[in-house]
Amino acid sequence: MYPRKDKAAEKARRIMQQSIEDHTADLAPTVDGRKVVLETVDVMRQYHQYDEVVTAVHRANLQVFAGEFVAIVGASGSGKSTLLHLCAGLDRPNSGSISVRGHKLEEMSEDDLGEFRGNFLGMIFQSHHLIPQLTALENILVPTLMCDREEVSYEQHFKRLITALDLADRLHHLPSELSGGQQQRVAIARALINRPQILFADEPTGNLDRANAEEVLGLLLATREELGCALVMVTHDLSIAARADRVLKMEAGRLRPWNNRMDGMLPGYEGGEE
Ligand code: ADP
Ligand code: MG
Repeated sequence: MYPRKDKAAEKARRIMQQSIEDHTADLAPTVDGRKVVLETVDVMRQYHQYDEVVTAVHRANLQVFAGEFVAIVGASGSGKSTLLHLCAGLDRPNSGSISVRGHKLEEMSEDDLGEFRGNFLGMIFQSHHLIPQLTALENILVPTLMCDREEVSYEQHFKRLITALDLADRLHHLPSELSGGQQQRVAIARALINRPQILFADEPTGNLDRANAEEVLGLLLATREELGCALVMVTHDLSIAARADRVLKMEAGRLRPWNNRMDGMLPGYEGGEE
């Protein structure tokens, strides 16, 4: 965990621990007492284009614990987004298994999976994916239609989100009337509105300058502390990866631990994406 020594940090840690205990009380404990909220076993995802087969994700094995911050790094095209979409239940693997809170996503119907996602998972996409015909407010509230957890109360949470994200006077604008940074913040609010237990973020700071990137990262980390949610983040930013509990690297579809050395660029990284 990112080491902070002051009292406020200690309090935040206690709140996070309590949140984790609350939402994982019903999960079986693992050997060391931590609980697994996400597990992939030998996950494969291939794309067929004409005669060619592209293996975007090759036998990915991953375990993420409740409240953990996992960063995934890797060159453009190495399969990071595909893996994130699979874990978030937005895409189905060709083979292998993905479990969230012990429930296998492949055993769920599309409808059940949609509801499950709404209840437990949040996703910040690489390219916002806001619905262009809906206002910022409507975009933020879309996931609430897919959530039936009784303990989720929106009013206070919503107010704090839009204040923290500085969106209060932008709520009735369409995405096309917002700056790139504002669109990103709307996408973040949408991902957080249901208080997810796992938050997936695909290069959430990729298009932001350093100051805005720091602000967004700060918000995601604060949210993680408050909700006790796990954070699985794809990033090219090594200073962000350095703050994760664990860093993994995708290389040509293969996921492996990365030693998190900060003394150079990622091998093979040529900058920019999409
Ligand atoms: P990253 O996020 O690391 O840049 P992606 O997961 O987007 O990588 O892509 C991994 C590989 O899968 C790339 O070779 C990409 O071209 C391919 N790919 C991704 N999406 C599709 C798709 N819908 N159809 C065909 N190929 C795809
Ligand atoms: Mg990507």
